[in-house]
Amino acid sequence: MDGSKLSLDELKDRFSEIKPALSKREASIEANRCLYCFDAPCIAACPTSIDVPTFIHKISTDNVLGAATTILEANLLAATCSRVCPVEELCEGACVLGTDHKPIEIGRLQRYAMDYLYDRDLMPLTTAPPNGKKVAVIGAGPAGLSCAGELAKLGYQVTVLEKQNLPGGLSTYGIVVMREPIRIALEEVEFVKKLGVEIKTGVEVGKDISAKDLLEQYDAVFIATGMGKVPDLGIPGEDLSGVSEALSFIAETKLAEKEGLERLSKLPVGRRVAVIGAGNTAIDAATIAKRLGADNVTIVYRRSAEEMPAYDFEYEFIKNEGVEFRFLSQPLEILGENGQVSGLRCDKMQLGEPGDDGRHQVSPVPNSEFTLECDQVIKAIGQEKLLELFAAFELELKRGYVKVDETLRSSNPQVFAGGDCIRAGGLAMTVTATEDGKIAAKSIHNWLLETTS
Ligand SMILES: Cc1cc2nc3c(=O)[nH]c(=O)nc-3n(C[C@H](O)[C@H](O)[C@H](O)COP(=O)(O)OP(=O)(O)OC[C@H]3O[C@@H](n4cnc5c(N)ncnc54)[C@H](O)[C@@H]3O)c2cc1C
Ligand code: SF4
Repeated sequence: MDGSKLSLDELKDRFSEIKPALSKREASIEANRCLYCFDAPCIAACPTSIDVPTFIHKISTDNVLGAATTILEANLLAATCSRVCPVEELCEGACVLGTDHKPIEIGRLQRYAMDYLYDRDLMPLTTAPPNGKKVAVIGAGPAGLSCAGELAKLGYQVTVLEKQNLPGGLSTYGIVVMREPIRIALEEVEFVKKLGVEIKTGVEVGKDISAKDLLEQYDAVFIATGMGKVPDLGIPGEDLSGVSEALSFIAETKLAEKEGLERLSKLPVGRRVAVIGAGNTAIDAATIAKRLGADNVTIVYRRSAEEMPAYDFEYEFIKNEGVEFRFLSQPLEILGENGQVSGLRCDKMQLGEPGDDGRHQVSPVPNSEFTLECDQVIKAIGQEKLLELFAAFELELKRGYVKVDETLRSSNPQVFAGGDCIRAGGLAMTVTATEDGKIAAKSIHNWLLETTS
């Protein structure tokens, strides 16, 4: 397995943002198509309830800073959301123009307003005077940053503790650069810091500072740790050269954008790549392998296409990238020659009755074994839960996720949680993590007001 054979120019082309920015003229034309509906369904369809018609109207009158301010009042991570939200399922999916005409491009208009703000380094938000209360936030991903920023606006002294070297969570390390360049994630972090939030990177709670110390030193704690690493498959051959894990593979391509494309060209990629799993992470890892120049990329999934956790539009997108699928296929062993991956031995599976979660049970078809020829295997079967950390806070869990009430308070009254670490059901998205941060900030504020008044 070698580095990419593509030239740096080809790589630059393949790893730049897919959706282009709107020009001023395009933004004006698009904004003027909006009907500014009363009781607009797009507001209800946005998990952070951005006042979409108001911000679009402001763009139509060339008040772009005003538009950005309206957006930020509801969503501090709006530059990321404008790029990564599955808008077809959310705001744009609800647009009344969608039935007969093209829905308004809400995501791209939002991006237009946010790019205007960041390009000019503007700060339209104000913060309340310090109120003397301290909150610790664990994790500098969307949930943590949103909560930290909202609390800072209310006058809290907020410290975010982040175990990675760079803040931003999966916006920085996970979401592919073609959807969100790392620059955007880091600019947004800087914006939150300007609200007065302190971010300490390279600090892992549970290792560098204990849960007990945090609870003693801060008035409240918000857990926004997301999920852990991609778990092992538990099959023979995982130690062979050519087996990698999807999140680290994707992270390399994010960092390459920051540290130079040479890093991309050195990233080892196989000629024939098998990606195991069928969620966001698998789709993104497969896209990257293909764009790095792999001849053939196959997603191997033990269930059927209907049960894929990825969105339909992502499935269509990746088929257009030339990625192939082997549904109803269960990997049994990674085969090797001279210590290097040479194939993936699988069983064919068949669907049975639906289980408790509504998904069909699957079982092997007798004598159906087959071998998929490949020289690289990428593991992308979800992410582990951070059980040890949750245990340190003595939290009640729900299927391994932190159990919270509707105010996002955990079983420990001093501890709140949000983002992927509470998402036991439903799709994990940046915009829902951002909304969790907002809800938790409000709940922490209300609780601390109550306890001190
Ligand atoms: C590959 C991939 C692609 C995705 N694509 C999309 C997309 O296109 N659109 C979309 O809406 N969503 C997408 N998502 C989902 C989205 O990224 C997540 O829902 C979102 O990032 C969750 O935010 P969070 O803050 O809960 O967690 P995270 O973003 O995971 O951030 C958690 C942070 O906590 C830190 N942390 C963990 N433990 C500790 C500790 N003990 N001490 C200190 N810090 C700690 C982590 O290092 C991390 O920085 C994608 C996810 C993946 C994996
Ligand atoms: S945050 Fe996402 S869902 Fe909400 S309006 Fe913006 S693009 Fe649409």
